[in-house]
Amino acid sequence: MRSVYFHWSLLEHEAERVLDDLARWTNIDTLLFYAWTKTRKGDKLLLPTTDGFEDFDSPAPVVGEAAFDTFSGVLEMAKSKGFKIACHFCPLFAHSSEMLALRNEALHQPTPDELFHGDLIWGCPNNPLTIQYAIAEVRSVIKAWQSAELLQLNHVEYPVWPHTGCGVIFTCFCQHCREAAQSAGLDFAAIEGEARALLDDLTTMPSQNDSVSPPTTNAVLECILRRPMLAEWMTFRTASLTKLISTVTNAAREAAQQFNPQLKIGMDVFLPSLANVVGTDFTSLYPLFDWISPKFPDYLTGSIVPMLADQMNSTGEQARTAELRESLRQILDVGPGPSNYEPSPSHDEELFYRNTFDATIVDRQMTYLNPLKGKVQMNPWVWQYNQDLPLLQEKVSALDRNGFEGYCIWLWKHDLTTSALQESQGIF
Ligand SMILES: [Zn+2]
Repeated sequence: MRSVYFHWSLLEHEAERVLDDLARWTNIDTLLFYAWTKTRKGDKLLLPTTDGFEDFDSPAPVVGEAAFDTFSGVLEMAKSKGFKIACHFCPLFAHSSEMLALRNEALHQPTPDELFHGDLIWGCPNNPLTIQYAIAEVRSVIKAWQSAELLQLNHVEYPVWPHTGCGVIFTCFCQHCREAAQSAGLDFAAIEGEARALLDDLTTMPSQNDSVSPPTTNAVLECILRRPMLAEWMTFRTASLTKLISTVTNAAREAAQQFNPQLKIGMDVFLPSLANVVGTDFTSLYPLFDWISPKFPDYLTGSIVPMLADQMNSTGEQARTAELRESLRQILDVGPGPSNYEPSPSHDEELFYRNTFDATIVDRQMTYLNPLKGKVQMNPWVWQYNQDLPLLQEKVSALDRNGFEGYCIWLWKHDLTTSALQESQGIF
C-alpha cells in the first residue's frame, strides 16, 4: 500500500485532475478519505442517511443522499483509474458541537470555544456514548462505502497537542473514567491528586541555574517516578483504549462480513516510542489488524516538543528552553535536536520549526517496532512539510532501507497541484 491522504477540499472541483496527476507522476496506489468532511453547513459524516443512528438523541450530522452520491461517484472514478479506496476513521473523534457529551475531561479543560482545530471533540474511551457512536459510525460507513477496500483507524490515543497548555494532555478524569477506575479497584481521587501534582511540578521546575537541581532529563523522569500511582493511571488509560479499539474493530469486522467481506482493516499508531504513553498498546493489539501504520511525525519534534518546553519553562530563559527541548527529545528517543531551531516560513502546516526532524529518527525508532517485525504488515506514515522534497526523499529512503512494505504520505493541498506532483516524480 502506497497511500496519500486526499483532502476533502479537493473532492468538489479538482478530484479528477488530482487523480490523473497522481496516476501520472507518482506510484501512489491507495487514497485515504476521512469519514468526516467540511460543508458550508458545518462538518458532516460522509454518509447518505442517519440510518443506524436511531438510538441517539442527537444523531451524527450527515451530508445526505445527493452529496453522498457525488462522493461515491468520485470513489468509483478513483477505482476506475486503478486506485484502492481507504476510509480513514477516528473512533474517538466527532466534529459537531451537538456531540460535546463525548468529550474527554482534562485537568485543564478547554472551553467549548477553545477546541483543537476549532471544532474537534476528542471522545473519552470509557464514555458509553463514545463507544455507541463509534460502532454506529463504523457500521454505517462500511455499509455505505461499498467501494472501499480498506478501513484505517486513526487517532486511537489520548490527546498529545498541548494547544491550551500541558493540562489538556492530562486526561481523562470524567465521571465514566472515575467509575471504571473505581470498579477496577483504583483510588482514582488519589491518582488525580498525583496527576495534578505532576502537572504543577512540570510547569514550575527549578531553573538549571539552581546548582542543586539534577539535570533536566532526570528531573522530568523523577517528577514521574516519585508518584507510583501514575503508573497505575497509565495502565488504566491504556486498558481503556484497548477495550475501545477491540470493541470497535470487532464491530467493524462484523459489519464487513455483512456488507463488504473483502474489507481489510488497519490501525495508525503514534511515534512508536511514545505510543504506549498515549495509550495505544500496539504490541498487543496488532493481531486484530491486517496492517499497522506507525507515524513518524515532524509535528512532534517541530511543534509539540517546543510547545511543551515553553509551557514547562517557568523562567522564560532561552538557555532553559533549549535544555528542555533537548531533554524531551531524549525521553522520546528521537536523537539530538538542532542547535538552532529554524522557524517554519508559515504556520499553515502546523509546524513551528522546520529543521527538527531527520530521517535517522526512523532508524532509531525501529527498536520499538521489533516485536511486530515479520508478524504484521507495516505501512508507516511520513509527512511532507514546507515543500521540502529532498527531506521527503530521505524519509522514504529510510522506510525502504528498514524493509517496510508500503507507506502513507501526508501531503498538503498545495503539494497536490500538477506542478508539485510533477516535481515529486520518483520520490513516492
Ligand atoms: Zn473519561
